[in-house]
Amino acid sequence: MTILDGNALSSKIKEELKGRVEKLVTEGNKAPHLAAILVGDNPASQSYVTNKIKFCEAVGFTSTLVRKPANISEEELIDVIQMLNDDDDIDGYIVQLPLPGHINDEKITLAIDYRKDVDGFHPMNFGRMAEGMTTFLPATPYGILEMMSRYGIDTDGKHCVVVGRSNIVGTPMSILLSRKGNPGNCTVTLTHSRTRDIKEELLRADIIIAAIGIPNFIKGDMVKEGAVVIDVGINRVTDDNKKSGYRLVGDVDFDDVKDKVSAITPVPGGVGPMTVTALMLNTFKAATKEIYR
Ligand code: NAD
Repeated sequence: MTILDGNALSSKIKEELKGRVEKLVTEGNKAPHLAAILVGDNPASQSYVTNKIKFCEAVGFTSTLVRKPANISEEELIDVIQMLNDDDDIDGYIVQLPLPGHINDEKITLAIDYRKDVDGFHPMNFGRMAEGMTTFLPATPYGILEMMSRYGIDTDGKHCVVVGRSNIVGTPMSILLSRKGNPGNCTVTLTHSRTRDIKEELLRADIIIAAIGIPNFIKGDMVKEGAVVIDVGINRVTDDNKKSGYRLVGDVDFDDVKDKVSAITPVPGGVGPMTVTALMLNTFKAATKEIYR
């Protein structure tokens, strides 16, 4: 059984990216510049944004953090977005999710200049992805594809079951893996909360992508012998043995499935670091105008 080590792979890509940034700067260009908008003080969001900024520092990107209080109005937030859209020095930026309930996520996504949408959430980028055009792929699916490709996971003709149909993970993942290409060429089943018999679907899967948000949902008896399991879930469960009082687990019961699978991502240290890595790869593409002139 192979552990798909997102931390190790992310470190490797980080080194590669650092070299590419050095080359870019040596050739007289400015360093790529990523900005992040963080609204409120959700601890998980703060930690995600901190990781992204640390990554920027490690590879030589410039980074800007814009912090706003949880009671910011939608109009004020759109003004901040407009400011980042107009700032020529900023190549790409993200609005860290989740946003407070009074803010409409859709309006915010639409306000982002798609040429700076390095999270790949804007309909322009989503549409280009669905068409198979070059685009900013959504960061988590992009990170998963990069991981599959670098670990040499064969997807051609395989049956992939995606669990969860969110716009940021499940749905784009199902599109990308069913597309002609490598990774790709899978026969994909997209399952969700209204699927009648998830277990029956999962037992037919050569590849499982779990993005549900329910701790340890997928058990050993739901997985076929030799399957590849990509666990996107990040869930906090109470753990009195930890100083923080909690630990992170995935949507897959790792201990229960590990002896059956051929490869699996751990949580933490699997898909999470690859998501940040993909965001940085998109930012590099934005800075070098690889997608949009
Ligand atoms: P979401 O919360 O927007 O949606 C959850 C999806 O799961 C829905 O489509 C729903 O239909 C499905 N679902 C819910 N209950 C189900 C059930 N009983 N059976 C089958 N399907 C069910 O999803 P999301 O934003 O994609 O997040 C999913 C998980 O992935 C969360 O734990 C989130 O924290 C994590 N996540 C991790 C990363 C990363 O980088 N590792 C990135 C994004 C999200």
